[in-house]
Amino acid sequence: MSPADAADAERVRAAAATAAGCRRGDAVLVRVDRRSLDARGRQVRVRLRVEVTDEGDLPDAELPGLARAAERDVRRRPAVVIVGAGPAGLFAALACIANGVRPVVLERGKDVRARRKDLAAITQRHVVDPDSNYCFGEGGAGTYSDGKLYTRSSKRGDVAAILRTFVAYGADPDILVDAHPHIGTNKLPGVITKMREAIVDAGGEVRFGARVADLELADGVARGVRLSTGEEVRGERVILATGHSARDVFEMLERQGIAIESKGFAVGVRVEHPQSIIDMVRYRTSVRDPHLPPASYSAVHQVDGRGVYAFCMCPGGIIAPCATRQDEVVTNGWSPSKRNNPFANSGIVVEVPPHDAPMDGVRFQLALEHAAWEAGGRRQSAPAQRLVDFTLGRASSSLPACSYPPGVVSHRVDQLLPPPIATRLRAALTAFGRSMRGYLTNDALVVAVESRTSSPVRVPRDAETLEHPDVSGLYPCGEGAGYAGGIVSAAMDGVRSAERACAVIASLASPAA
Ligand SMILES: Cc1cc2nc3c(=O)[nH]c(=O)nc-3n(C[C@H](O)[C@H](O)[C@H](O)COP(=O)(O)OP(=O)(O)OC[C@H]3O[C@@H](n4cnc5c(N)ncnc54)[C@H](O)[C@@H]3O)c2cc1C
Repeated sequence: MSPADAADAERVRAAAATAAGCRRGDAVLVRVDRRSLDARGRQVRVRLRVEVTDEGDLPDAELPGLARAAERDVRRRPAVVIVGAGPAGLFAALACIANGVRPVVLERGKDVRARRKDLAAITQRHVVDPDSNYCFGEGGAGTYSDGKLYTRSSKRGDVAAILRTFVAYGADPDILVDAHPHIGTNKLPGVITKMREAIVDAGGEVRFGARVADLELADGVARGVRLSTGEEVRGERVILATGHSARDVFEMLERQGIAIESKGFAVGVRVEHPQSIIDMVRYRTSVRDPHLPPASYSAVHQVDGRGVYAFCMCPGGIIAPCATRQDEVVTNGWSPSKRNNPFANSGIVVEVPPHDAPMDGVRFQLALEHAAWEAGGRRQSAPAQRLVDFTLGRASSSLPACSYPPGVVSHRVDQLLPPPIATRLRAALTAFGRSMRGYLTNDALVVAVESRTSSPVRVPRDAETLEHPDVSGLYPCGEGAGYAGGIVSAAMDGVRSAERACAVIASLASPAA
């Protein structure tokens, strides 16, 4: 249908009734169950998949995912320690409750509300709290993200159950229908808060300001953790869901002789256009149909044997300052539910193969982030260059407006990045300009540095039990351990890890079973 027709419930009903062969005047109920945009032809079309009935009610949509299962009382049940309250940790906690186990979630950062002040300090005073920032705190890196819930890892778990759980805790039910669902930064904190309240109501614990500094091991078995304050927290099993920015956790594992491995990742820049340019590129019109969302794009190009691709594209978004230390500059992107900011940003990143030693990958990331901090004036301001200037290797004498809240500083980003990265970016951006007419423009900005696309480290685990091969009872999971790349896949991995841990606890309680 045209975007205008697809936005009109009566026209959708009539079209669905006709398509289903119903007669005019039949009492027909219609429910949209899938909605996607097709912008390939001259006219943008909205594709709808609908359920139609002329026999009374449509069956209730399946709700509410893990939320109902997690309504049990687990106060007197055995405990599992979950380190990290990101999507992996929170969904692991819900899955523990659903399986009759008490989750004790330990989070180094603050709750979503207190965290807001620390985010403001990054923008206004260029001060980064190493325990409370865009990556650390309640809800993890997902809380102040775009909340895009599209995932390709549908084989790794029940995507629909994750989405239904989000809806049960307050996300817009449209996410169950949209082909590219998205919650929005303004809505996510409320959803996360309700999730935590449900965990606590069921008898679980969620502790903030609780940074785990050591794993407590006895004879190669994880028995709990020790916090940075020295306090011990015990549990039957430990789920490690600390995200890709917790470098101190990788150091902790190395120090304790627990194996970690190198993993490939990707680094590059964030490119920001005026949204109107991306709308023009995708919809081929300078005035977007009000029924269409701000346009997004995906792009990929191979250069010298390595992929260069668009990552975490945020239409109508803001470039986020995602450093976790004072002396680094890190970009990422978010957007509000309405995606109504005048800019479109996307990471454009180059694949980096695994380093020889796992911590070498971390050091490589850190060196780039530190160089961006130096180039930005040793504050959270980010070095930036106009897009065409970047591809031609020349300085930008002025910069256009940019959404990055701490501000940008003109710098030769093409010289800041290591040559194998800069040259590939230059070639790929030029190719993107050929496939998306209007994309390669000096009205767009290249902002450095996009370095936290995924973890440079994998924490190994057994494919079946999901336990670390060196430490029984330790479940490395989520993005930091290298098993997820985004909110939904991290949530699914948290659920899987919790289910394995709970099954072992259940078998210990009743060995005959
Ligand atoms: C700005 C931004 C935008 C993003 N946009 C999207 C998007 O639109 N869609 C999408 O799918 N993904 C997005 N992502 C990525 C997504 O947020 C992550 O993939 C996801 O949050 C990973 O989940 P996780 O639970 O594995 O780890 P995390 O979310 O990183 O959570 C780990 C948690 O562990 C805590 N922790 C770390 N170390 C310790 C310790 N020693 N003790 C106690 N706690 C600890 C951290 O504070 C953190 O809260 C975005 C990320 C950012 C930063």
